[in-house]
Amino acid sequence: MPVPLLDVTREYKDLKDSIDSAIARVFEHGRFILGPEVKEFEQAVAEYSGTKYAVGVASGTDALLLSLRACGVKPGDEVITTPYTFFATVGVISRLGATPVFVDIEPDTYNIDPGKIEDAITEKTKAIIPVHLYGQMADMTRIMEIAGKYSVRVVEDAAQAIGSRHKGKRAGSIGDLGCFSFFPSKNLGGIGDGGMVVTNDEELAETVRTLRVHGSKPKYFHSIVGYNSRLDTLQAAVLLQKLPQLDRWHERRRANAVYYNKRFAGYPIVTPVEKEENYHIYNQYTIRVENRDELFSFLKERKIGCALYYPLPLHLQKCYEYLGYQEGDFPVAEEASRRTISIPIFPYLHKNEREEVAEAIIEFVKR
Ligand SMILES: *Cc1c(COP(=O)(O)O)cnc(C)c1O
Repeated sequence: MPVPLLDVTREYKDLKDSIDSAIARVFEHGRFILGPEVKEFEQAVAEYSGTKYAVGVASGTDALLLSLRACGVKPGDEVITTPYTFFATVGVISRLGATPVFVDIEPDTYNIDPGKIEDAITEKTKAIIPVHLYGQMADMTRIMEIAGKYSVRVVEDAAQAIGSRHKGKRAGSIGDLGCFSFFPSKNLGGIGDGGMVVTNDEELAETVRTLRVHGSKPKYFHSIVGYNSRLDTLQAAVLLQKLPQLDRWHERRRANAVYYNKRFAGYPIVTPVEKEENYHIYNQYTIRVENRDELFSFLKERKIGCALYYPLPLHLQKCYEYLGYQEGDFPVAEEASRRTISIPIFPYLHKNEREEVAEAIIEFVKR
């Protein structure tokens, strides 16, 4: 039986009536750009995340880009981040003419290693972007201490971590700004692209709000050069129907994780580590095995959904050759990209499906 890595249609079937009528309401009022649902959804996300402000934007990538702009990142600045993340985290740094500076990750959580950040700080450092990878928050306690000591901004890449917690605080609420993505594969997924910036700082919120409408304030008067980057009313309308389900969905993902952890115990499979001070929302359930590429082909052949997040760390990408990094510079990230594989964990995964996934993997490692 084929098992999908993610099937977004199951979520839709569950909420069909409320989603269909929310979409119909948007067609009826016709306010497709920054309509009433956008503000309503911004307020709901701010409340959910425990922040004062939220600004809807066109994607998670733009949430990061506009946040860095709000922090004043400009050509010549340096921004510290992890080489083991989705490309967008780093792409936005170079798009602003700033230089990405990489720091290796922790071997257990795959998040940026706070113990290695201080060595990377220079006079040019403007910001740090910790990424809450796979749905578990980076060590924000130590990151905020370092940022405070050197007066640099912190932009949380919480694209995979909306609702995740570190010492009781939700993702996005600890740094200067937090960035969410509503790409369909995230825990809170839209029906296309979408993103949001959250913050407790009124001035930063206002700057992001201005940047998303070409930097115009008031309309047709531009003090800064901005972007066209709004969250669609249609996306907000759909996401408003899904947000109340999110905590329940996190719990289902966590139950799937508990199941896999039990099944894989005693086998040569490294299962995800959830730190005591964290609440992991398992956007991905990512294991580490010795013969990763063989397992990948084995699962593909069985039609069991799986993916490699991420097969080549960013310091070794062709487009970043100019930064001058070499293989061996970030051994933990390099090892992770050779050994990790993500398997189905989504909330609507059936019990017999997760059993099939576990059995296939155990069969593989026993060979
Ligand atoms: C998905 C993702 C992004 C980008 O979000 P988009 O909405 O696809 O632009 C950025 N960073 C990380 C870590 C992501 O997983």
